[in-house]
Amino acid sequence: MWNNWKVLITDYVWPSIEPERQVLAEIGAELIVAETGDEEELLTLVPIADGILTCWKPVRKRVIDAAKNCQIIARYGIGLDNIDVGTATENGIIVTNVPTYCVDEVSDHAMALLLACARKIPRFNTAVKSGTWDQNIGPQMYRLRGKTLGIVGFGHIGKAIILKAKVFGLDVKVYSPRTSPELIKCHDAEKVSFQELLKTADFITIHAPLTTETQHMFSYDEFRVMKPTAFLINTARGGIVNTAALTVALQNGEIAGAGIDVLETEPPEVDEVLLTLDNVVITPHAAFISEESILELEMTAAMCVVQVLTGQLPESVVNPSVLKRPNLRAKSLLKKKT
Ligand code: NAD
Repeated sequence: MWNNWKVLITDYVWPSIEPERQVLAEIGAELIVAETGDEEELLTLVPIADGILTCWKPVRKRVIDAAKNCQIIARYGIGLDNIDVGTATENGIIVTNVPTYCVDEVSDHAMALLLACARKIPRFNTAVKSGTWDQNIGPQMYRLRGKTLGIVGFGHIGKAIILKAKVFGLDVKVYSPRTSPELIKCHDAEKVSFQELLKTADFITIHAPLTTETQHMFSYDEFRVMKPTAFLINTARGGIVNTAALTVALQNGEIAGAGIDVLETEPPEVDEVLLTLDNVVITPHAAFISEESILELEMTAAMCVVQVLTGQLPESVVNPSVLKRPNLRAKSLLKKKT
């Protein structure tokens, strides 16, 4: 099993990669860590990589085509929008993610943004610290109990939100086109159309993946349909919301406010108008972070690489059709199947 494996890390956003180094050392794999993770650098590093670990840096067709020895691309995370999964599949490369490492953290974070918006915490905090002791700054506040929370996307995180929202007395409606109404009912919520969710929700929280279908699903028309007292919470992906349209909607009072963890451009431009608005609460794509979740993320993603390189099948293969392809790169997996 001692094969001088080389595993490329394109990028990571935690202080140390010691946990994954230790996991990979078990099979004698050497880590190569990209300095910038930009495409031109990755193109020079991938030809010798047997596996790739990637957080946010784009791993697109050119990089994947150049990764001639690569058997697995393991996403440090849930969303797959930075990886060209189609090209990986065509090239016989297994792609994995870590589907549940931060369900608690992101659902907590979405609720924290919702509460911060509803109770005007950042506004009051800024005002008090700058010498203004005034209960009446900013727009009116409304009781949460009895209001409606609309959830877009009913996967791991969307489901986890429900219990937390119910504690605050919120009624829950769900828009998730491929989820059955029965399943949603089992969770004490109601399946509705996208238009009904937009029209009736007091808070909308997004938990769908970024795909061609969801790109800009919140834009000018959608904000005009939402209630002027409603808040949009986005901890999923920035590209699901049209930033320019959100900015206009917030400036014109088409919606009351937004709590966001993700942006179309991360980090944002310094002159991003959205950041200057009082009715925006924002965090720097940090919803997934806790000591526990990051350790689980590092260990699980590295373990997926170890499994593929040693002929075992990880649980979280996101492109299972690759396993039937004659050009599957993980030959030791192929041998086990035959
Ligand atoms: P999941 O795959 O378990 O669930 C996604 C849900 O969205 C599924 O129910 C799916 O059917 C639904 N969906 C797909 N297309 C849809 C559409 N067009 N409209 C409405 N719903 C649709 O994913 P999850 O674990 O719940 O995570 C959701 C997203 O959160 C991820 O894709 C990821 O991009 C994002 N995320 C962000 C952070 C962060 O730190 N901010 C951390 C983890 C995940």
